[in-house]
Amino acid sequence: MNTLLNGSSHQVIIIGGGLAGLVNAIHLSKNGIRVLLIEKNEYPRHKVCGEYISNEVLPYLQYLGIDPFDFGAVDINRFELSTIKGKTIKTDLPLGGFGISRYALDDILYKRAISLGASVACDSVTNITFFDKEDRFKINCKSGTEYETEIVIGAYGKRSNLDVSLNRSFIKGKSPYLGVKAHYKGAFPSDLVALHNFEGGYCGVSKVENDHINICYLADYSTFKKFKDIQTFEEEVITKNPNLKEIFNNCTPVFDKPLTISQVSFLPKATIENHILMSGDSAGMIHPLCGNGMGMAIHSGLLLSQSILEFKEGKIKSREIMEATYAKAWNKTFSKRLFAGKLFNSFFGRDKVLGFGLNALTLVPFLLPHIIKQTHGDPLTVER
Ligand SMILES: Cc1cc2nc3c(=O)[nH]c(=O)nc-3n(C[C@H](O)[C@H](O)[C@H](O)COP(=O)(O)OP(=O)(O)OC[C@H]3O[C@@H](n4cnc5c(N)ncnc54)[C@H](O)[C@@H]3O)c2cc1C
Repeated sequence: MNTLLNGSSHQVIIIGGGLAGLVNAIHLSKNGIRVLLIEKNEYPRHKVCGEYISNEVLPYLQYLGIDPFDFGAVDINRFELSTIKGKTIKTDLPLGGFGISRYALDDILYKRAISLGASVACDSVTNITFFDKEDRFKINCKSGTEYETEIVIGAYGKRSNLDVSLNRSFIKGKSPYLGVKAHYKGAFPSDLVALHNFEGGYCGVSKVENDHINICYLADYSTFKKFKDIQTFEEEVITKNPNLKEIFNNCTPVFDKPLTISQVSFLPKATIENHILMSGDSAGMIHPLCGNGMGMAIHSGLLLSQSILEFKEGKIKSREIMEATYAKAWNKTFSKRLFAGKLFNSFFGRDKVLGFGLNALTLVPFLLPHIIKQTHGDPLTVER
């Protein structure tokens, strides 16, 4: 049996510095907890993401000391949805949102975490072990560094080597999606987020800072693999939607080549795994068509930080109760949204079903904002 290192000064170690990890680091540091965040990549860096964030999290980001509009975020309040053949429906967004690149947002959060005293290490975590007797964790990193601590947050995103080493059940299931994203220059309304369908997937289009347009799509891998590369796939499949054809024809890429991620899965995950408290996509991922994965990652950081603070202050008496409190709050807040996201996803990429749905919605257009609300929450107000 391994023995633990002594003397780590960090009360909480967070693995992964995307939105969920950084929000936990800021919230806990702001409330006096000594935090170490371990992130495998350096900041700033681009990520595959549609980069439209629901206003649901705006008051919470402001509580954390961040106003995205100070950094060029774009106000978005209209939504457009189209079928593969280009049949389109438009509506105002019930709550609205904003567009900001992950390149900018993650870097802003990272700098805020540092300014509040959080430590950040650039390393890749390879293993996490919980020692029952000592009631503590040991963390191993690729560099050979080892850490020990009382509380570990898993905020390492949708899929990681750690899911394999933790033997998480979703990792054995199907991960049939591919995500592709790039920034473009061209004409596109600043206040609009569009979701256009193509065979086997959908593509989001909206503006971010610097007048750049984010074009990001999720494609069924079995459709994609029939084509030899991204360019051919875009020519042969994506631009069959006349709306997407117009956008691609009138925009010029800013990136040398698009970013891609594969093996995206939406299978359910456990909120707690071997005492590791999961946050963001590590705890569960909503279909990107709902445009609320980032909102959920940020919101889950709030729920988890509050449970940890109550535990550290003695209001929650044991680790087990802290875990149960967080898991309950997570399920109460997100399980209905995940279910709605799964349901809506079954309409996408299937033009007959979606076309039928859109025809019905043109007769009762007031229903669309109501449907969008099923995957979003109310604005988050926070006392501490
Ligand atoms: C195609 C697509 C489009 C999307 N569009 C939108 C959208 O428009 N709006 C929206 O709200 N959501 C969208 N989402 C969802 C959104 O991107 C995610 O929900 C969000 O990024 C989750 O944040 P996170 O912090 O949980 O994970 P991430 O942002 O993925 O961060 C995880 C971090 O952990 C690090 N990491 C991983 N393994 C290790 C390790 N072993 N050691 C150390 N570090 C590690 C990674 O480097 C990464 O920085 C989209 C998702 C996809 C796939």
